[in-house]
Amino acid sequence: MRPSASGRKRGERELENRRESIQERCRATGLKLTIQRQVVIEALLELPDHPKADEIHAVVAARMPGISRTTTYRTLEQLVRVGVIGKACHPGSASRYDNRTDLHHHLVCMECEAMIDISDTRLDRLPVPDTSGFGFEVHDFRVQLRGLCRRCSAQSRKEDSE
Ligand SMILES: [Zn+2]
Ligand SMILES: [Zn+2]
Repeated sequence: MRPSASGRKRGERELENRRESIQERCRATGLKLTIQRQVVIEALLELPDHPKADEIHAVVAARMPGISRTTTYRTLEQLVRVGVIGKACHPGSASRYDNRTDLHHHLVCMECEAMIDISDTRLDRLPVPDTSGFGFEVHDFRVQLRGLCRRCSAQSRKEDSE
């Protein structure tokens, strides 16, 4: 299905907003936007759905031949550390990078690993249990709702009816 013209425009505007907020966060942290960082950020913005480091590296390497995987990975981790980009970690799968750093949650497909952003103020306000018994200090949390995405649930319905 092709996105409608207005859908495409909305997507572009959204991308532009995310690009601006990343640049804003770079300025706020005093991080210099080197060409290398710009190329990495641009790849993260363009790739759909919380890409993995190696997916980002493939795009970066096509634009900056000679850049090593280690450099791309290091750049990503540095951007995460200063809070310019986000990182979503789920047990048992590779880290995924997020061009959003504001509080939001994820719908994770157990079948194809699609990761969909959702914002919900009720999830933002979930009560955090007392973890002092573990000597653990909670700084932040994200809710991960797991299940099947639209495509995979349609696929499994189709297989069931065959
Ligand atoms: Zn899926
Ligand atoms: Zn996200």
